[in-house]
Amino acid sequence: MNFADSEIVASILTKADYEVTKDISDADYILINTCAIRDNAEQRIRKRLHELKALQRQRQWVKIGILGCMAERLQKQLMEEEDNVSFIVGPDAYRKLPEMLQNINGDEKLAETLLSTTETYADIEPVRYDSNGITAYISIMRGCQNYCAYCVVPYTRGRERSRDPQTIVNEARELFEKGYREVTLLGQNVNSYRWQCDGGEVEFPLLMARVAEVSPLLRVRFATSHPKDLSDDLLQVMAQYDNICKCIHLPVQSGSERMLKLMNRHYTPEWYLNRIEAIRKYLPECSITTDVIAGFCTETEEDHQDTLEMFRKVRYDYAYMFKFSMRPNTYAAKHLSDDVPDVVKTRRLEEIIALQGQIALENNQKEIDRTYEVLIEGVSHRSEQQLFGRNSQNKVIVFDRGELQPGQYTTVRVTRCTSATLIGEVVDNK
Ligand code: SAH
Ligand code: SF4
Repeated sequence: MNFADSEIVASILTKADYEVTKDISDADYILINTCAIRDNAEQRIRKRLHELKALQRQRQWVKIGILGCMAERLQKQLMEEEDNVSFIVGPDAYRKLPEMLQNINGDEKLAETLLSTTETYADIEPVRYDSNGITAYISIMRGCQNYCAYCVVPYTRGRERSRDPQTIVNEARELFEKGYREVTLLGQNVNSYRWQCDGGEVEFPLLMARVAEVSPLLRVRFATSHPKDLSDDLLQVMAQYDNICKCIHLPVQSGSERMLKLMNRHYTPEWYLNRIEAIRKYLPECSITTDVIAGFCTETEEDHQDTLEMFRKVRYDYAYMFKFSMRPNTYAAKHLSDDVPDVVKTRRLEEIIALQGQIALENNQKEIDRTYEVLIEGVSHRSEQQLFGRNSQNKVIVFDRGELQPGQYTTVRVTRCTSATLIGEVVDNK
């Protein structure tokens, strides 16, 4: 999501005659887009700001701005604490940037952090600036109002709002015409995408269908679905279109009923497993990935065992695994105590990581001898002679280059694997 936002910022500033540079020592303004989701994300930014002081000593006119969630969360306090920050801009105020850069002189400090109920940057065509030219993100909605007890997003990104579907379809079409072959539709909870206008209502399954119809050669992915809203309608639409990728990211957060309630997730483990069953029924080939938090407030050993059990039952293909980090202002910060000792959080996280590593390896071993259509994304980091791409399930496959080029589809048979990568051979070149 942050990456998509940086592309919007680049577009707004490019239109105002600023240029993006890849060489930081050439920059007059340094904009740092930030995340506030866990404390360590914020600590990394503070470290980076400190490192940038050396550069600022040599180029004293350089101004540093902090964009995004950390700016929104800390407001002006951030500029008081970090003396080399000249301006801060929250996620809904990026249109103000050109004016701010014009007005910023000398030691003056500027802040724009007003949240909006309507801003979706729908009319802004993002500049794809660090792009492989093949895969791109399209932001389809902003904000979140689910108020999970641990999460800072509703406070830093504001109310949920959906973007005009026509602008989304147009953006997908333009990307396809420029040679892109995959788009990922982004939102904090894409299942609650809803656009109402005189002609009726567009919900997420219909939006997916419309984007998929841009071309059968354009793959469509999405993230993230909240389990409470994952509908059979969406699964049916996914089954109907070959180019809608068969991969669902369904963050579970915990396998314990008590924890899920305390987290305000609005589902039980039973409900979650029912959704997994529905995915397996409609989309037998679908891969499933998740997010999980170890050591949320009051989590007991039994709750943790429930999470491990959930992982054994679902057998995720991939998981983003986090240690709970208390965030100021959230429900947890106001009403609960961060009472799981850090060593215990770490140990539980390590147990989840070890289990997931084993499951991912076993899942990948089952892929051996299967054949997949792969969209080639680039040259393998390990060898110039190899390419890599992804199958519909979002698994990375590496194979010998031959005459193939990034951006093409090819068919690959899996011959070997690690827990993270499949290795294969091309069986047919379309
Ligand atoms: N909207 C998405 C997730 C957005 S944040 C969803 O609801 O699924 C990405 C992930 O960060 C979350 O799924 C959660 O696992 C993790 N996360 C959020 N707040 C956290 C916190 N305070 N500590 C640790 N992990 C957190
Ligand atoms: Fe945060 Fe929950 Fe919203 Fe996801 S759904 S962004 S975890 S509040």
